[in-house]
Amino acid sequence: MPPLAAASPQTPIPQTPQAEPAGISNDGLDALVNFARRAAGADVLLAFEAGDDGLAKPLSASPKIDFMPFGKLAPMLHAADWSQGPLAAEMFNLPSTIQVLLDRPARELWFLPAPVPEARFSGMLFIWLSNPPPVCECSFRLGMRDQVGMLAPVFSQMLIDRGTILRKRQAMQRFQDLFGSVPNGVVIIEGHGQSGLINAQMAMLFAMSAGEKTVSEIAEAMRALRERCINAEFLTELYRPLQRALDLELRAVWDLGHLKLEVETHPILGNGRNGRIWLFHDVTAQHIVDENLRKLAATDALTGLWNRRQFFAAGEALLAEQDASGSEPVAALMLDIDYFKAINDRYGHQAGDEVLREISARLKSMLRHQDQLSRLGGEEFAVLLSGLSAPGVVEIAERLRQAAASAPVSTADGDIEVRISIGVTQRRGDESLVMLLQRADKALYAAKAGGRNRVICDLLADLV
Ligand code: GH3
Ligand code: MG
Ligand code: MG
Repeated sequence: MPPLAAASPQTPIPQTPQAEPAGISNDGLDALVNFARRAAGADVLLAFEAGDDGLAKPLSASPKIDFMPFGKLAPMLHAADWSQGPLAAEMFNLPSTIQVLLDRPARELWFLPAPVPEARFSGMLFIWLSNPPPVCECSFRLGMRDQVGMLAPVFSQMLIDRGTILRKRQAMQRFQDLFGSVPNGVVIIEGHGQSGLINAQMAMLFAMSAGEKTVSEIAEAMRALRERCINAEFLTELYRPLQRALDLELRAVWDLGHLKLEVETHPILGNGRNGRIWLFHDVTAQHIVDENLRKLAATDALTGLWNRRQFFAAGEALLAEQDASGSEPVAALMLDIDYFKAINDRYGHQAGDEVLREISARLKSMLRHQDQLSRLGGEEFAVLLSGLSAPGVVEIAERLRQAAASAPVSTADGDIEVRISIGVTQRRGDESLVMLLQRADKALYAAKAGGRNRVICDLLADLV
């Protein structure tokens, strides 16, 4: 019969505090373990969690001792039938780590199993030591000892709750690790609309610390960032419906000039009542690449002017704009260098190229920013002008012709006299770009036929 007394005060058991996972209180378990030991009159009680690997991980001890995990429990526990409650556990070989903590050998061991999912060999190990001090055996204590089995479900439930809290904490930690390491800015607005979270990337953009913020702090930071954008007005309009349409998903580029952010907003689980997530992705580098590619695709490599493709794309847009507004007459000029083949033949292809570059620069310098000058191919150029009367257009064409002829083009192969012929026309009604250019081409043909180095307008008389 084991002694029915608590461990004597002189039992020299180290009073080190039990390790517990950060943030999880062990108070409930400690109290239960203390009570169970006292009720059973045991000297020491070790509570542990153990799974199929048989490794017992310490949870609590009474008196408080800092015991290490100990192994090889599973085979012993498998062999016993624990369904009857606490059993004498003679087969337990007390691990040496525990033996050294006790000043005397254990005289009797009991094990109270308290299985939980994934830790089905968990429980409480009651230890009575040899040579106990005198004890008082009363019927109350004897009765209590037989009843400690009733504590098993309480112990199990405590382990389950503890596991749940631990898993929640681990999930939260995992989420925070992910949230912090996403290379994009992330803002999460909670469903209750009171607070939100910003991650480290977002915190840098907002110039504030990462973590939980009030919704008004986040709204203010977002508004300040948005208002610094070149397209702030557009964005304000874009997001206006968000206040009412909770389920809206939007994607836009916030253009801060030096920095371009692609910003997506999604309601959480498709419903804004669950909250809203904002993702900020730096697309500046991509924009630079795209912009360079776009420029390359639109530019003539030799002269740097628009190429034929860009001329037609921009020309169609200009005509569509004119059709929509009903104003701004559009005029077309076709330009062609006279006897260019002869220049090539006499001075060489390289000199011919220099002529093309220089003439392009001279033409460009005579035009306004909005005038659409391009090299259509070879030594042929075209210009679309808008908002000018027919005499105004002819005057520009004449200035272009004179600019080309104003001085010889100096090249490494000699100074080259250059002349150009120009055909001019103005758009009629909703005429297509192709039709407009065909008539300008006809005027150019007339300028060539008329002796070259001249401007012919199919609306006015020959102005040369
Ligand atoms: P016209 O006065 O009737 O316009 O006569 P032209 O000699 O200017 O016209 P033609 O169409 O007979 O010759 C154009 C020449 O332009 C032929 C071609 O070799 C040359 N050419 C086309 N593209 C280039 C280029 O990129 N560089 C150089 N150097 N020559 C080019
Ligand atoms: Mg020519
Ligand atoms: Mg030609």
